[in-house]
Amino acid sequence: MDSGAISRLAAIRERILSAHARFGAPPESVELVAVSKTFAADEIVPFLEAGQRVFGENRVQEANDKWPGLRERFPDVKLHLIGPLQTNKAREAVALFDVIETVDRDKLAGVLAAEMARAGRPLPCFVQVNIGLEDQKAGIAPAETVAFVERCRTEHGLEIVGLMCIPPDGVPPGPYFAHLATLGRAAGVQNLSMGMSGDFETGIAMGATHVRVGSALFGHRPAQV
Ligand SMILES: *Cc1c(COP(=O)(O)O)cnc(C)c1O
Repeated sequence: MDSGAISRLAAIRERILSAHARFGAPPESVELVAVSKTFAADEIVPFLEAGQRVFGENRVQEANDKWPGLRERFPDVKLHLIGPLQTNKAREAVALFDVIETVDRDKLAGVLAAEMARAGRPLPCFVQVNIGLEDQKAGIAPAETVAFVERCRTEHGLEIVGLMCIPPDGVPPGPYFAHLATLGRAAGVQNLSMGMSGDFETGIAMGATHVRVGSALFGHRPAQV
């Protein structure tokens, strides 16, 4: 086993527990989604051996190259799609992932629902909110979120279990996470996926049920091309 992976995983879990203890329930617990994008299968294995089972990937093709092999050894893995999804990859995504965190438009919601029905795999989904209304980020606008969640449920028949966001860089994330929590209550969802390596404790303070941690576990990540 790779003791670096064991100790980094233990340290992040400890920080999650301690932040959760400080800020209290709800939620009952916080799920660590280990973001393994850009890291090769052999770099992921030590985390699997150390007991981590929930992972996030942002690209369907890359995930499909790595995870079917890893799943043969670790069949109880749960994979979250945390990157933007094109409708022409929806079928592949439904076959591979267990949770889709990036539902952000009606066309995608409709195609995903159809692919889930076709595959007999109704997956829990999060709606991604563009919480800072940034041009370069995906997600539904905050003001449209509650109505969009409602349409996903009633018109498209998707199971929406939560909201997800990536706050703007370079400004304190707390107010954005608080806004996502308010939207989550208004939309009637149970889960909030918010907080990454640099700000997951703030996410937990604002009620995150899921934190998505990459570089604090796997180390520095080369830029994706
Ligand atoms: C890469 C990524 C993360 C992890 O970021 P780190 O800062 O490395 O923890 C979390 N969420 C999303 C959507 C990502 O693309």
